[in-house]
Amino acid sequence: MEQTFIMIKPDGVQRGLVGEIIGRFEKKGFTLKGLKFITVDRAFAERHYADLSAKPFFNGLVEYIISGPVVAMVWEGKNVVTTGRKIIGATNPADSAPGTIRGDYAIDIGRNVIHGSDAVESARKEIALWFPEGIAEWSSSLHSWIYE
Ligand code: UDP
Ligand code: MG
Repeated sequence: MEQTFIMIKPDGVQRGLVGEIIGRFEKKGFTLKGLKFITVDRAFAERHYADLSAKPFFNGLVEYIISGPVVAMVWEGKNVVTTGRKIIGATNPADSAPGTIRGDYAIDIGRNVIHGSDAVESARKEIALWFPEGIAEWSSSLHSWIYE
């Protein structure tokens, strides 16, 4: 089953959105497979966002991600990478549809509350980076009520 890496950024934690965000993924029917509350250092944040290192906003982005604790998660389910991105909404909250997390809870692109992997391959890399110890082995007993 497909997995994605979802991170509630420091602004999402500070603003008390952890429960709301986890609830949206839970209520959709996705399965929580990993979760940790962690403050990362600069080198780690730079690795996570290595693909963006040439961008002008890179330093500000790294400062933002290391500015406080984040909630790092692995969610599992059919098409969870693409559907997770839809639940999160467009990168710039000015363009995120109402009903999405960023559309409902964010205004500026540099304070957009949440990260989600953009492809199955980047999800695999991000899960390996954030959860080197591995993730939970369990399956929800609700499976047959969610999948036909
Ligand atoms: N970002 C920013 N300014 C920009 C573009 C992106 O501050 O002009 C930040 C924003 O927090 C975004 C993150 O960099 O979520 C990663 O950018 P990406 O293009 O990967 O967007 P995402 O995948 O998070 O939607
Ligand atoms: Mg991205």
